[in-house]
Amino acid sequence: MGLFEDIERENIDVLRDEPMKRHTSFKIGGPAKVYARPESVVQLKNLITLAKRWNTEYFVTGRGTNLLVGDKGIDKLVISTERMADVRRDEGRIVCSCGAGLTNVAVYAANEGLTGLEFAYGIPGSVGGAVVMNAGAYGGQMADVLRYVTVMDASGEVKRLEAGALEMGYRSSNVLSNGWTVLMAELELNECSGEAIWEKMEQLMSARRLKQPLEYPSAGSTFKRPEGDFTGRLIEEAGLKGERVNDACVSEKHAGFIVNLGNAKAADVMELIDRVCERVYARYGVELEPEIKFEGI
Ligand SMILES: Cc1cc2nc3c(=O)[nH]c(=O)nc-3n(C[C@H](O)[C@H](O)[C@H](O)COP(=O)(O)OP(=O)(O)OC[C@H]3O[C@@H](n4cnc5c(N)ncnc54)[C@H](O)[C@@H]3O)c2cc1C
Repeated sequence: MGLFEDIERENIDVLRDEPMKRHTSFKIGGPAKVYARPESVVQLKNLITLAKRWNTEYFVTGRGTNLLVGDKGIDKLVISTERMADVRRDEGRIVCSCGAGLTNVAVYAANEGLTGLEFAYGIPGSVGGAVVMNAGAYGGQMADVLRYVTVMDASGEVKRLEAGALEMGYRSSNVLSNGWTVLMAELELNECSGEAIWEKMEQLMSARRLKQPLEYPSAGSTFKRPEGDFTGRLIEEAGLKGERVNDACVSEKHAGFIVNLGNAKAADVMELIDRVCERVYARYGVELEPEIKFEGI
């Protein structure tokens, strides 16, 4: 008897020793000891309660698109929100569950004739991950549209907060430091012609396809943008385009991305990140800060 059996008994979908490379856009990562996919807030709460009962830490993941998981895996209960993906309209707001794909929500908004989320079209993460990261692109970010968020704290208490309580900054929020799990987000958007929204979204998608190495697994931009500069430029001018550690490679197409050419390990990516940081610091005195999150490293 153990945590795994208790989760099964609650009829929650659960896997043992599940390779995280199947659940990260980097396609890297060893096994999660226990990997569960709740379908509701009640199931998620039960998982947190069971983790506590078994004295096991838990880690919440959305789509794993901003995540590098270590080669030895995650010795925790991993809770994936991918099955909590409801999206609905409530007048000028869109109310979405944490596991909804951000791009799907942008499509939903466009089809409803609601503008404000065009920037998110093409960001491959979940709504929960996007709130945590304050995901953004092309001049927009989650903080611009997020009005309320419903979170569960580590004791299982659910609260609805104004977005301001999350102290969202550039690719940051206080969600993780507070030990919260994002359950739902309420996005406030404005009415507009669906055609104009789609036109903008398609423009942004073309720009992504042109500039980003979407043909290879990655976790998006590896580093945060240093103030007043572009990471891609610094890395490129430090001569690091195409730099490799085994199959981890600084993209030839966009130096701000580290890509997996096939069989990269987390250790390869980490070595490459260190190398890039050292060389950029040596040349420009700029300390790059990773944007991606690390687990089991
Ligand atoms: C090709 C590509 C392009 C990208 N383009 C962009 C871009 O333009 N702009 C941008 O900002 N990002 C971009 N990203 C990065 C990524 O998609 C975003 O950061 C996204 O918001 C992460 O969401 P996720 O569900 O994948 O989060 P995950 O990677 O699963 O998790 C990220 C962090 O959030 C936490 N987390 C996830 N869900 C929850 C939850 N419900 N409650 C509490 N914590 C949670 C995790 O514990 C982890 O610490 C890109 C990535 C790729 C691969």
